[in-house]
Amino acid sequence: LPELPEVETVRRQLAGSLIGMTFTAVEKTEPAMVRDCTALEVERRVPGRRILGIDRLGKFIVVALDGGVFLTLHLGMTGRLLIDPVDGPGPHSRFLFTLEDDTGRSCRLEFRDPRKFGRLHLTTGGPAPRMRGLGPDAWLGEWDADYLAGRLRGRRVALKAFLLDQSNLCGIGNIYADEILWWTGLSPLRPAGALGPDDVARLVQEIPTRLGEGVRLLGCTLSDFVDTAGEPGEFQDWLQAYGRQGQTCTRCGGVLTRTIVGGRGTAYCPGCQR
Ligand SMILES: [Zn+2]
Repeated sequence: LPELPEVETVRRQLAGSLIGMTFTAVEKTEPAMVRDCTALEVERRVPGRRILGIDRLGKFIVVALDGGVFLTLHLGMTGRLLIDPVDGPGPHSRFLFTLEDDTGRSCRLEFRDPRKFGRLHLTTGGPAPRMRGLGPDAWLGEWDADYLAGRLRGRRVALKAFLLDQSNLCGIGNIYADEILWWTGLSPLRPAGALGPDDVARLVQEIPTRLGEGVRLLGCTLSDFVDTAGEPGEFQDWLQAYGRQGQTCTRCGGVLTRTIVGGRGTAYCPGCQR
């Protein structure tokens, strides 16, 4: 699933291509994926509006339009945002927009999603209300060891589940949680509230570092993720834990194992993650 680095990769490309452009038409909508308004309102209210900015919080992309209107996009499990796809629109094309810049150059933005778990929210005055419960952005948000220690205190939930809970920090999913934990040397099964100051310090170091590496490598492509040009990322070539159960740990030479934490498949090294 797209996590913070994959969403940031898409956001940067959208921002580089689309800021300053004006929506000219909405050619296609998918009512099942629309939130906070109707598909008809998307068709009526988006055309004519200029894109002022494209930001991100966790796994949400927020497109600010003039007139105080916001489009909030979430890729769900299999969503892709493609600019001028050569192979589109196809059967999984759910939203199709055309945009034009001041010189008359136009382009198409396609939201493609086989499984329809992606979302498009149209709101006025601020981004989607669903974002209100999110903690700070795990990569660029304003949080520190004191914040993290406060959130961890007294929690009996497993550390991996704590990292996946978007109300603590937002943007971390299953892949980057396993990677962050491997790099910290902490077990995904540790009760969150049992961490000491040294453990918290390691998390404060590794959470932004690993997410930043994911951004630098343009995301992780194991099955679905591609950028706005349809290109895969490279982070998958550098995985140390996620999906490596049964393989050798590059740090201690032990064998990584797989377990379930909070309902999610989890790979870790019992030899050096304590
Ligand atoms: Zn190990």
